[in-house]
Amino acid sequence: MNKLFTALLFFLTFSGFSQNTKPKFEGQSASSTGKVDTRNHAIIPQWRGQQTLGNISFDNDFAGARLNGITQDNDTLYTAIIAAENYPINPSPWYAFKVTSKNPKTIWIHLTYLNAKHRYFPKISRDGKTWQVVDSTDCILVKDPQAKNQNFQDNALSESAYVRVRADSKTTWVAAQELMTSSIVNDWSKGILKNKFVSSEIIGQSPQNRPFQCLRIGEDQSDSKIMIVIGRLHPPEVTGQFALQAFVESLCVDSETAKKFRKEYTVYVVPMMNPDGVDNGHWRHNTGGIDLNRDWEDFNQPETQIVRDFLRKKLTGTQRKLYFGIDFHSTWDDIFYTNITEKPTHMDGLISRWFESLEKAIPDYKVNARGSKPTSGVISKAFFNREFNAEALVYEVGDNTSREFTSLKSKTAAESLMRLSLEYLK
Ligand SMILES: [Zn+2]
Repeated sequence: MNKLFTALLFFLTFSGFSQNTKPKFEGQSASSTGKVDTRNHAIIPQWRGQQTLGNISFDNDFAGARLNGITQDNDTLYTAIIAAENYPINPSPWYAFKVTSKNPKTIWIHLTYLNAKHRYFPKISRDGKTWQVVDSTDCILVKDPQAKNQNFQDNALSESAYVRVRADSKTTWVAAQELMTSSIVNDWSKGILKNKFVSSEIIGQSPQNRPFQCLRIGEDQSDSKIMIVIGRLHPPEVTGQFALQAFVESLCVDSETAKKFRKEYTVYVVPMMNPDGVDNGHWRHNTGGIDLNRDWEDFNQPETQIVRDFLRKKLTGTQRKLYFGIDFHSTWDDIFYTNITEKPTHMDGLISRWFESLEKAIPDYKVNARGSKPTSGVISKAFFNREFNAEALVYEVGDNTSREFTSLKSKTAAESLMRLSLEYLK
């Protein structure tokens, strides 16, 4: 009975109850998405290899890895130094490394960050594919005595963290989030491509020659009504990647609505906008050292140019229209960033109707959205609206939003979008 009560109390504290009492996440301020210089800014390359201290080996020689240094404090304690590709940078300190031990041994690793605080609760994998959040007893967060408990972000950040790892001769991966490298996302695309109404083309190459794959979903060969889905401008934003994948999978289902939708609309999907940043284990930038979601006005970076040129070639000077653009990201909590537009879009009012439909379809769910004017915006949604008059938004998923809810919401979002956009044809 006592155990049951404790379990219930735990459930109330960490589930719905704390959801209702925590302050609403207000999102990024307008100043954080202001215009910045997006010309190349040198990055610091990461040393790659394996380092053995005592009987323990640490390895960062794999796609997505980030471990800038490791030292041994004593027999069971190691300090990992995690640094960004360059500074200044948003506080998304990504880390990923492998640990092995000649003899089975439990060690603590102190995760420390250069010019940043701890953000991502550690995940562990034994095969590099399936991941688990480490048990709360295996992670100690070191509180920052300077932190002002004034906003959501400070509450979420600790100074550093200790993670306990049971190392043995078989590799243990430790990472900030599940590893979703460019090749893993490419494998996912191969699954989507098995549908007969999906094709793909390479629309460009990243600066380090990784292909930019663009999936095409739809059966209207004239491409008269277009939508665009992009994601992973920011490497650590893995929950946004999960949402994108669930969204795209739902556009490919066998329902009557989906079949009708695919006869009318063509959806282009660029699931991996920053493959170099992802595979280099960057915190945020591309190899030009730039935040790609501040470059949709000046277009100094190859990655944003590829999508701009693709859309212009498809749309400019034709009868085709871009109806909808969506860009998947992750942040502290779920939020949508929308455009406050002055002139009607090609599908005016779609996004507000879509939000209403999401609230109806998901019990107890309330949309959290924040609008800004697209007129001088440097982020993707502003470009999609400004140049092509599309309804457009940024779809942000919380770092710690449950993977099940992320998938459910995306699936519902795709279903509602298909149904509503068919209603516009009536
Ligand atoms: Zn982002």
